Amino acid sequence: MTAHGRLLIVGAGQAGVQTASSARDLGWRGPITLLGAEPHSPYARPPLSKAFLNGKATADSLALRTPEFYADHRIDLVRDEHVHSLDLAGDGTGSAVAASGRRWAFDRLVLATGAAPRRLPLEGADLDGVVVLRDLNDASVLAGRLHTADSLVVVGGGFVGLEVAAAAAAAGIRTTVLEIASSLMNRVVSPVTAEIVEKAHRACGIRVMTGVRPARFVDGAQGSVAAVELDNGIRLPASLVLIGVGASPRDALAAAAGLRCDNGIVVDDQSRASDGHTLAVGDCANLPDPSPTPGPAPRLRLESVDNAVEQARAAATTLMGSPQPYRSVPCFWSDQGSLKLQIAGLARPDDDIVVRAGKRPGQHTALRYRGTHLVSAECVNSPIDFLSVRRAIAAGTSLSREAAADTQVPLKKHLSAPVTTGRG
Ligand SMILES: Cc1cc2nc3c(=O)[nH]c(=O)nc-3n(C[C@H](O)[C@H](O)[C@H](O)COP(=O)(O)OP(=O)(O)OC[C@H]3O[C@@H](n4cnc5c(N)ncnc54)[C@H](O)[C@@H]3O)c2cc1C
Repeated sequence: MTAHGRLLIVGAGQAGVQTASSARDLGWRGPITLLGAEPHSPYARPPLSKAFLNGKATADSLALRTPEFYADHRIDLVRDEHVHSLDLAGDGTGSAVAASGRRWAFDRLVLATGAAPRRLPLEGADLDGVVVLRDLNDASVLAGRLHTADSLVVVGGGFVGLEVAAAAAAAGIRTTVLEIASSLMNRVVSPVTAEIVEKAHRACGIRVMTGVRPARFVDGAQGSVAAVELDNGIRLPASLVLIGVGASPRDALAAAAGLRCDNGIVVDDQSRASDGHTLAVGDCANLPDPSPTPGPAPRLRLESVDNAVEQARAAATTLMGSPQPYRSVPCFWSDQGSLKLQIAGLARPDDDIVVRAGKRPGQHTALRYRGTHLVSAECVNSPIDFLSVRRAIAAGTSLSREAAADTQVPLKKHLSAPVTTGRG
């Protein structure tokens, strides 16, 4: 297979667009088709739970690239086509068939099908007013309902749920967040950072309930939600409910085509699926941890723009026949009202925590250590700390815990001074 062949990318989101763009930039000469199920031109999802809800972003402003970009890069963008089956020949070639009956033959296939929002198998989950948020259509529905809702219950205290809660509270809606775990963002930040974020949300009038489990959604009248009932019998009035309990990889297409899937399409560090030819990138891929220091698990899915872009860039080198294995410091961000949370690196639950209080109220950085090694940073309203630590982790450098705890010296200065290597 050479770069003259027909490249088909299924899924026109962040990872699909980046793969197409990087492949062309690296010299892919054959036709590139970027095929997506949504009717919109590819767009950025992060603003859907932030600026789009408070009217600071419009659907048009979210576009990832201009129409001229696709034309100039000779990327054939096909919208509104949902691929429902794949024929893989075994050598990486094959064809994809859409629900409309259209068929695309390819010499190389990339799957960038993303993830779908999880729903809850509870009584009343299909009531009007119980919504999820993944795409632009969901966001338009949610934004419309926020105009008329007087009370919102968000089920799930993760990034997306908290972002929506912050936007709703700012719009004057009585907002409650329900989290089953004992702290917010349980899987991604340390308890100390979670506590700071929780306090900030409470200060904005959001009711946060941790360690609680919804049991059912209560029908008010004519099929519309009126309340969420917890398993302890407490009823919380809600004219709107957002289910924000994470997303599942869209891997059914790959699985049906015989590719190995296990919480996502299983790929190696060159983004190759189990047939050795098809690539999978972004939220749909289950990949080897790309971190310089191993995170909580040897394989994982990373749901972030940073991963979608960086993995796609690396995957394009695989397409070109000169693979550069995907290595990266995983990064995440979440804007929750006035809080900007940024995370660099993957910590394990038992990694130690060194907290640096910020100079200004609301600033906070928690550094995570494994032995003497700096592995991760959770930064609230501290973008300079985030960038400094991200760079340091990528360079494999560390900082003594004593120096890290010394808030008289900015982290940036500590980390730009001659540093010790964190290894060994
Ligand atoms: C509300 C929200 C807020 C977020 N905020 C942040 C944030 O602040 N920071 C951050 O880093 N990340 C954030 N994320 C996560 C980030 O947006 C995702 O990690 C990123 O979009 C993943 O890109 P992707 O291309 O892998 O998947 P997606 O963006 O989901 O794109 C996949 C595309 O494939 C299409 N598709 C699926 N199956 C088929 C098929 N069979 N045929 C054709 N097309 C198909 C889908 O319709 C979709 O358009 C947020 C996500 C959401 C939903």
